[in-house]
Amino acid sequence: MKIAVVGTGYVGLVAGACFAESGNDVICIDKDAAKVETLNAGDMPIYEPGLEEIVRRNRQEGRLSFTTDLPAAVREAAIAFIAVGTPQGEDGSADLSHVLSVAREIARAMNGYKVIVDKSTVPVGTSRKVADVIRSETSHPFSVVSNPEFLKQGAAIEDFMKPDRVVIGAEDEQARRIMLDLYEPFTRTGAPIMVMDCASAELAKYAANAMLATRISFMNEVANVCELVGADVDQVRKAVGSDRRIGTSFLFPGVGYGGSCFPKDVKAMMHFASEKNYEFKILEAVESVNACQKTRLFAKMQQQFGDMKGRTVAVWGLAFKPKTDDMREAPSIPLITALLEAGATVQAYDPEATRVAKGIFGDRITYTQNNYDALKGADCLAIVTEWNEFRRPDFPRMKSLMREPIVFDGRNLFTPEQMKQHGFRYHSIGRE
Ligand code: NAD
Repeated sequence: MKIAVVGTGYVGLVAGACFAESGNDVICIDKDAAKVETLNAGDMPIYEPGLEEIVRRNRQEGRLSFTTDLPAAVREAAIAFIAVGTPQGEDGSADLSHVLSVAREIARAMNGYKVIVDKSTVPVGTSRKVADVIRSETSHPFSVVSNPEFLKQGAAIEDFMKPDRVVIGAEDEQARRIMLDLYEPFTRTGAPIMVMDCASAELAKYAANAMLATRISFMNEVANVCELVGADVDQVRKAVGSDRRIGTSFLFPGVGYGGSCFPKDVKAMMHFASEKNYEFKILEAVESVNACQKTRLFAKMQQQFGDMKGRTVAVWGLAFKPKTDDMREAPSIPLITALLEAGATVQAYDPEATRVAKGIFGDRITYTQNNYDALKGADCLAIVTEWNEFRRPDFPRMKSLMREPIVFDGRNLFTPEQMKQHGFRYHSIGRE
């Protein structure tokens, strides 16, 4: 099949590469000329494990190309995916301006029947808005499909190639058939392709992200209570998660959720519910718990040191989660901002996000080449992102580099016993 994918971000680039990998001819379009140039030079604009190899292979084999020329790409394609950002608007709603402007551009370029697929996360009713925009621009026949994406950054290729399920909102038979055909190679292992109405498909994505965010905030509150009553949240988490009705994933307490999706999707869901005069009370709590959780590591430091002025703090991890360079809404940002405002010096290390962090903090913090360099002369270490390489450090080396052996672990990478043995003062989440 000939496919155009508009938007070469985390979703569009991965989707385009994976559709090419299954034998389709894919043209990826972005309005960001620098990004397209980077991709055409064989470089990656983002870090995502396995992506570079799959892009290289499919470019070499002529199935994948990149352009800024949307009309030319759309004319070639039978299916056009919209995978552009839907950032949070000022009132918390999803900003659909990029989606609708791409829909208009696609419509103007149409030269026959096309399936226009919305892959961006969009509120219920957007497929209708997209159809209205297209209808206002062209008399060519078309179908609009809602196909929300459930991939996780850091495991995006794996998730796309072997999805738990594929959700397709399609309301006519022709589009349904085309989409089933397109996704058939990705569901050989039996994952279901769920075909439904567009409204349900659109809502399913928000409900899934809101549920995951709820689990995180719930466990963060459990952890906070553990600290007050002298329980160990790791023991509690294991006991709770072994109940098959609950399951073990997404029960890890920490420093709050971040990223480009959960915060904005929780807000957008509350917003479109409120437009129907429905107050989504659980999500209000999920959000406020998350905001508090992002301040906890700093509060623990203040408790330990009193004043942070003049202190040097090592930070391990800047990305909002491991295996990505994405720092959108990362918990490291409010922590480092609070430290700088309090007059502390920050020495940070992240395996992939340094370039992105420089765009946020500039030279207000020091970026080190490895995690040990960040510890030199530090009064304490804050662990913010659970990169695998932080899990088994050389503790004596850490201790010898630090001015004081104090660790604030926002991801519970170590056990209190282990840290005591190594002579650290150790503060973690839900275990004090
Ligand atoms: P992103 O910000 O990484 O990428 C969006 C891309 O679209 C950018 O490269 C931008 O230049 C391009 N773009 C914007 N307007 C354009 C236009 N008019 N023409 C051409 N290109 C244009 O975004 P993302 O993280 O890939 O997310 C895209 C959508 O997918 C969002 O709705 C998001 O909520 C959803 N989503 C994201 C993830 C994730 O993990 N990032 C997972 C599932 C769903």
